[in-house]
Amino acid sequence: MPNLSFVSPTRNSPWGTYLSQIDAVEPYLGKLARWVETLRRPKRALIVDIPIELDNGTIAHYEGYRVQHSLTRGPGKGGVRYHPDVTLEEVMALSAWMTVKNAAVNLPYGGAKGGIRLDPKTLSLKELEKVTRRYTSEIGIIIGPTQDIPAPDVNTNGQIMAWMMDTYSMNVGATATGVVTGKPIPLGGSLGRVAATGRGVFVVGREAMRRLNINMEGARIAVQGFGNVGSVAAKMFAANGAIVVAVQDHTGTILNDNGMDMASLLEHVGHTGGVAGFKGADRIDNENFWDVKSDVLIPAALEGQLSGERAKRVQTRLVLEGANGPTTPDGDAVLADRGIIVVPDVIANAGGVTVSYFEWVQDFSSFFWTEDEINVRLDKILVGAFKGIWDTAEQHKIPLRTAAFTVACTRVLQAREERGLYP
Ligand code: GLU
Repeated sequence: MPNLSFVSPTRNSPWGTYLSQIDAVEPYLGKLARWVETLRRPKRALIVDIPIELDNGTIAHYEGYRVQHSLTRGPGKGGVRYHPDVTLEEVMALSAWMTVKNAAVNLPYGGAKGGIRLDPKTLSLKELEKVTRRYTSEIGIIIGPTQDIPAPDVNTNGQIMAWMMDTYSMNVGATATGVVTGKPIPLGGSLGRVAATGRGVFVVGREAMRRLNINMEGARIAVQGFGNVGSVAAKMFAANGAIVVAVQDHTGTILNDNGMDMASLLEHVGHTGGVAGFKGADRIDNENFWDVKSDVLIPAALEGQLSGERAKRVQTRLVLEGANGPTTPDGDAVLADRGIIVVPDVIANAGGVTVSYFEWVQDFSSFFWTEDEINVRLDKILVGAFKGIWDTAEQHKIPLRTAAFTVACTRVLQAREERGLYP
C-alpha cells in the first residue's frame, strides 16, 4: 500500500481511503490515466514547528502542516483544522479531497489543506492567537492570495481567519484580504459564508432525494456532528418539511422518533455547548446512533466514521457526506452491496468552498454582493455540478463517488496534460 516514504497509510486510514478512491476512478479516465500517478502524490508538504509562550510562562511546541496537493488548475485552496488527532497523513488526504472537490464544482483552484495538532479547548484565547499567528508566519512562505488560500475547517472560525489575515498582511506590508476566506464581514468576508457548507449539504441532498423519489415532507434525518455543517443542514431540512430524529455530537447522542424542534435544540446547544441534556429528546448510547431508522443519514463530523461494521447496521436510504472522508472503503463497499446511495463529500459539502470562492472574487474586485445573490449563485453551481455527476454515474453505472471523481480528475488531468511537464 505505501506509495510514499513519509506516510504509512492503511486500507481505511484517510490517505489509504483516498488512494483506493483514485484506484476506483482510474478505469474511467481514458487516455488521461497516463497522468493518474500525479494524483497519488501531493505536490508540496510543509511541516512547521510552532513554539509559543503559554499564559503560565512555559514554552509549548505544536506541530503544524500545510499541504498543497495540486496547483494544476489554480492556487491551492482549503481549510485549516485544529484537532489533537491531526497528522501529516490526514492533512494530505484532506488536501487531495480539496483538489477533487474544487474540480468537481469547477472552481479555478487546486487543492490544499492545513492543520495544527492541538486541542483548542486547552488553550486560552491569547494562546490560540499566538499559535495562529506563528503558524501563519511559518506557512507564509507558501500561502498568498494567488498561491494558496486557507479557510476555516474543524475548530477554526472567522476570528482565526482574522488573525491569519492580519499576520500575513503585517508580514507583506500591505492589507491582503484575499489570503484567507471565511473572514468576518468587516474584513472582506462574504455574506452567506458561515452557513454555506450546511446550505450546500441541504441543496445537494434535496437534488439527490428528488431523483430517488424520497419525499422531503416527513423524511427522517439523522445527523452526526452538530457544528457549523450539521446544525445548518439539519435546520434547513427541518424548515423544508423533513424531521430530524437523531443527532450525535461530542457530548452524546439524542433521539426523538417524532422529530426535534430545531430552534429549541440550537438554543440548548448555544447555552450548554452540546446536544446532551436536551429536553426534547431521549439520550441513547453513542454506538446506537448507527441503528436509527432514517431516510437520510448525514455524517457531518470527522473522517472514518462509517466503517464496514457500521455500514452493515445503518437503516437508511441515502448517506449525505457533510464531513470530509466520513465513509471508509469498507463502508463504501457494504453500502453499495446493500443498495444504499452515498452522495460523496466532494459534492455534498462543496458549498463552503464555493462561497469561499465568491469571497475571494469579491475581495479581488472590491465589490460585494448581496446574500441573495450569493445563495442564488451557490444553488445554481451545486445543482449543475450534481446533475453532471448524477448523469456520469448513470452513463457508466458507477457509484456517485466514482462519478464525482471521474468528472473532477478528468478536469485536473486535462489541465495537467495541456500544461505539459516542466522543464
Ligand atoms: N474546510 C472547508 C472544506 O473542507 C472549506 C474550505 C475552503 O473554503 O477553502 O471544504
